[in-house]
Amino acid sequence: MTRNSPRLTEASRKLEALTRAGVDTPPACEGDDAFIADKGTLLPHELSRMRLVCSRCPLLEPCGDYARTARPEAGYWAGMAYGRPEKATAKTA
Ligand code: SF4
Repeated sequence: MTRNSPRLTEASRKLEALTRAGVDTPPACEGDDAFIADKGTLLPHELSRMRLVCSRCPLLEPCGDYARTARPEAGYWAGMAYGRPEKATAKTA
């Protein structure tokens, strides 16, 4: 995303909306380090737990709205892990 691109502008607007919503309503993931961990370090049971946390979060809608627009490079947002895909494992002969 380049500076001043329409997607960046829209993402900024949605992040602002998410931040505003979070002022009176703390996110369900507050203080949970798993939500900022590298995608590749999360185990399936952790992802299941996080998905459940998000499903009960009062900020699910604005969080997902932001993440779908911004496509963050890392982190877990509204039930989805974002980041680069895992590198393919080199084949051994
Ligand atoms: S939807 Fe999930 S990632 Fe987004 S604020 Fe809520 S708990 Fe955190």
